[in-house]
Amino acid sequence: MCNILRNLFLFFVLFFLQNSFAQTMQIGVLTDFKLKKIKINKATGNYHVMADSIYLGLATSNDVIEIIYVSSGNMMVNFKGNKYSAIRKISLNPIFEEQSIQFTGINPVFSARQYEGDFVITALKSALRMVNEIDLETYLEGVIESEAGSAQKFEYYKVQAIISRTYAKKNELKHSTDGYQLCDRVHCQVYHHKRLNNTQIDSAVSATKHQILCLKNGDFAPTFFSANCGGQTCNPSQVWNENIEGLHSFQDTFCIYTKQATWNKSIPILDWISFLVNDYNFPIDDSISMQLLYDFKQEERQAFYLHPAYGIPLRDLREEFKLKSTYFNAKKEGEYMVLNGYGFGHGVGLCQEGAMKMARNSYSFDQIIGFYFPDYTISNIICK
Ligand SMILES: [Zn+2]
Ligand SMILES: [Zn+2]
Repeated sequence: MCNILRNLFLFFVLFFLQNSFAQTMQIGVLTDFKLKKIKINKATGNYHVMADSIYLGLATSNDVIEIIYVSSGNMMVNFKGNKYSAIRKISLNPIFEEQSIQFTGINPVFSARQYEGDFVITALKSALRMVNEIDLETYLEGVIESEAGSAQKFEYYKVQAIISRTYAKKNELKHSTDGYQLCDRVHCQVYHHKRLNNTQIDSAVSATKHQILCLKNGDFAPTFFSANCGGQTCNPSQVWNENIEGLHSFQDTFCIYTKQATWNKSIPILDWISFLVNDYNFPIDDSISMQLLYDFKQEERQAFYLHPAYGIPLRDLREEFKLKSTYFNAKKEGEYMVLNGYGFGHGVGLCQEGAMKMARNSYSFDQIIGFYFPDYTISNIICK
């Protein structure tokens, strides 16, 4: 009897611990669009529709709802043949978990997107604001598929789950002045829909449930990642002008033969030079400087073009000429500067294609994280 009571007690303690970390996130979705009119024409189950404090009814999976922006704080709703006007707030609440609602853009036009969780829709100054209230773990499933696609190895999905979970926790106040916590764009992690294809993603999220990366002092670790580092990860100071604890530059041989390892671009030499002269007073009358300009090499990643004394950050060139990375060599060929570059993205932190390659070579998720973030620890509890 005593054992039964003890086991029962343990069961409740474990149950409580397991669920005490469940967290609902508020994610701003469809933020790429200035939404004026959207339509819901499909759902995988029934859901409640509220307009301000009026209950409009239970929508079934094939009901069509139109939501139209009128002005700030003012929307119109068409639902089951009725028109409702002067609505300030619309709430959509699926009856069961794992149901999804599908949104299609009418103005502007965009193709259907499905999301799980609840929705709160309001009208801001010039467009609709859509906030998806969703369990953190379910949100991560959508993020991972948006960020990494459907064809990765299970161990890679576990890596992405841990870094994306850490990112979400660390940045949960990022958009607090916008009425949500994170948005769905690349700077906040891409989240374009619920997980649609590979169910291994859900397994990877649940296999790493609650796992995050911490710094030695227990703070959430900064988990930057980019598509391909080009063979050497980038020091954060070269991108953002500041050092970030736990992130350093190092050689990465896992990504050098992958899809986005190299790139080429030719830029008219006059455009190249006029940018340097206009923005940095580059001394075109100085023959030594011009010789340097026509043949630039990076054996290792540099922060500045030619020499720091010229004060031309490579990241400015990347932005101006829409380059895939700052890691490139440049040589004059006829009327062009021909750039031969490495990698894609800012190059700080985890290199996605390198990490994917490690997973294909049978490295485990903790080995991959240990390679890209050697100063971090994987923690099973919420950090500070
Ligand atoms: Zn954002
Ligand atoms: Zn790499």
